[in-house]
Amino acid sequence: MSWKRNYFASGSSGLPGIFTPRTMTSIAPSKGLINEPGQNSCFLNSALQVLWHLDIFRRSFRQLTTHKCMEDSCIFCALKSIFVQFQFSSEKVLPSDALRCALAKTFQDEQRFQLGIMDDAAECFENILMRIHFHISDETKEDICTAKHCIPHQKFAMTLFEQCVCSNCGASSDPLPFIQMVHYISTTSLCNQAVRMLECREKPTPDMFGELLRNASTVGDLRNCPGNCGEKLRIRRVLMNSPEIITIGLVWDSDHSDLAEDVIHSLGTVLRLGDLFYRVTEDKAKQAELYLVGVVCYYGKHYSTFFFQTKIRKWIYFDDAHVKEVIIWALCNQ
Ligand SMILES: [Zn+2]
Ligand SMILES: [Zn+2]
Ligand SMILES: [Zn+2]
Repeated sequence: MSWKRNYFASGSSGLPGIFTPRTMTSIAPSKGLINEPGQNSCFLNSALQVLWHLDIFRRSFRQLTTHKCMEDSCIFCALKSIFVQFQFSSEKVLPSDALRCALAKTFQDEQRFQLGIMDDAAECFENILMRIHFHISDETKEDICTAKHCIPHQKFAMTLFEQCVCSNCGASSDPLPFIQMVHYISTTSLCNQAVRMLECREKPTPDMFGELLRNASTVGDLRNCPGNCGEKLRIRRVLMNSPEIITIGLVWDSDHSDLAEDVIHSLGTVLRLGDLFYRVTEDKAKQAELYLVGVVCYYGKHYSTFFFQTKIRKWIYFDDAHVKEVIIWALCNQ
């Protein structure tokens, strides 16, 4: 099962892949991030490397100046400070402690992202984005934000509605609108669908990846016909905007999944927005072709990150303090 060269991944719990347009590239200085024993900051370090290396995010965030400041628990200020260090510090490895503390203080009531405790990188990434919205959007609600300068909603958010339409009796459910920062898909469903799709085709084609993701996210999710004709219906998701960055979160159904290799083989590096959803409404989205630039992997209770430096056309591997250029892709059974 392969759509394109350059497969990679490992892991057992979360595997966000980040897709962006191929245009607008620049080189961001790469540095490692400290994770002392007991800190368990690898989930945050991975999310942070993704945000820093995404050209679209880094540039837009640099232009933001005013915000609602939360003093010592301000995620906006902590992120600004580490971005300045990424850009100008002569150190090769930076501490992410200030952001770690701000995150812990902000989410103290929910008992999420607390100091010394391991957490989920994809959820950390989502929550940092939502906090940036909070700091700059003047108390606009998360699900109706249209502020032009709000990077999370303008560049990352997928504005969707889902609906069931019955081809048997013609009944349809009320459209349910929602916004998501990460599109989550089960790895089990992904692998099952990959096998099924290849059974009906002679050879894999590049556009299959988006279709595979679409099938994998809807196939097990059957609803009763809203007109009660007895038909079981697949949900239809319609994308109403054209986000510049798409984040896919692959969810492992167990701690000891044996699907890692199959998942790797079913990943593609090009994603057409029009294939990912039942329908896209914007012309820009219909034509959008996104390229894989970042992957966060989870293996052995540890997160690490691969990121594609578009300008030098090289993949870089970030494992906390360690930064390595990827020379050869090798898949190994660990
Ligand atoms: Zn602040
Ligand atoms: Zn917003
Ligand atoms: Zn029906």
